[in-house]
Amino acid sequence: MTKELIVVALGGNAIKQPDEKGTTEEQLRNVDATASELVKLIQMGYDLVVTHGNGPQVGDLLIQQEEAQEYVPPKTLYLCGAMSQGQIGWMIQNRLQHHLTRHGIDKPVCTVITQVVVSEEDPDFRDPSKPVGPFYTKEEAMELVRDWGYIVKEVRPGKEKGWRRVVPSPEPIDIVEKEAISRLVKQGVIVIASGGGGIPVKLNEDGTYSGVDAVIDKDLAGFKLAQVVQADRFVILTDVEKAYLNYGKPEQKALDVLSADEAERYLNEGHFLMGSMGPKVKACVRFVRWSKKEAIISSLDRAIDALEGRTGTRIVP
Ligand code: ADP
Ligand code: MG
Repeated sequence: MTKELIVVALGGNAIKQPDEKGTTEEQLRNVDATASELVKLIQMGYDLVVTHGNGPQVGDLLIQQEEAQEYVPPKTLYLCGAMSQGQIGWMIQNRLQHHLTRHGIDKPVCTVITQVVVSEEDPDFRDPSKPVGPFYTKEEAMELVRDWGYIVKEVRPGKEKGWRRVVPSPEPIDIVEKEAISRLVKQGVIVIASGGGGIPVKLNEDGTYSGVDAVIDKDLAGFKLAQVVQADRFVILTDVEKAYLNYGKPEQKALDVLSADEAERYLNEGHFLMGSMGPKVKACVRFVRWSKKEAIISSLDRAIDALEGRTGTRIVP
């Protein structure tokens, strides 16, 4: 029996914990725990479409490109995005299959390598906002500008290693594989798609697509995915159980249920940081306005309670 179709967006901590190096074993262990939680939802009758972030993984791949350039030609940012989508997609796919098999559930799982269309006119191409990869000293950062043409920014002013590479993070416009994804979902396949926000591409005049160096926000792309599959609910699972007003201050206040209009007002008042909670709330507001249904922000270990209305921040029409 199917209860409803849910798009689940997994944050970085579902794959790599902040204090970990990111070895294969560590990542597989985290993804295994995540998959085990997701299979509980499937057992309860929810149909899932899964998407995920790729921040730490794409950062690692960029270091590999830089360090191995003498031996192997470095790959572009969008190709690193594709690599990270493949590796994380495989881990989730493999661990979901493992837990489904253990519970005797016969459901196919499939990762769709997903391209997401962006506009080259997007203002973020002129003033990139998304920090990726390691932190550098000013001297190291200037070297990368000279040798690689990177754009760098001081993201932790005053710190010895306060500089990072920044890349454009344009708005997702459309999912190229939308027809394939929606057909698979309708056929009962558990689909993993739009990983890392999707591989950014531009639409050429002749109707073809080419890769573009950028990193799309995974929560905003997750909303596009929710539209494509006509999700009943959009659930963002991160490392906090709820979103807060005045986050990190003594007077911080957890948010339980709020309307899309209220959420937008708090967003404009700056309660949700733009590099983290901001895009989650923005993506939820977009989903709620489009679907007239609910979106939830909560943590992975509270996913069931959040879906059943016992915790999480619920944004409603
Ligand atoms: P993910 O990797 O899951 O996408 P992020 O690190 O991007 O997660 O976003 C989650 C983080 O957002 C939390 O760990 C928290 O530090 C931060 N955050 C910023 N503003 C808020 C807020 N108003 N309420 C809760 N968390 C917030
Ligand atoms: Mg994170």
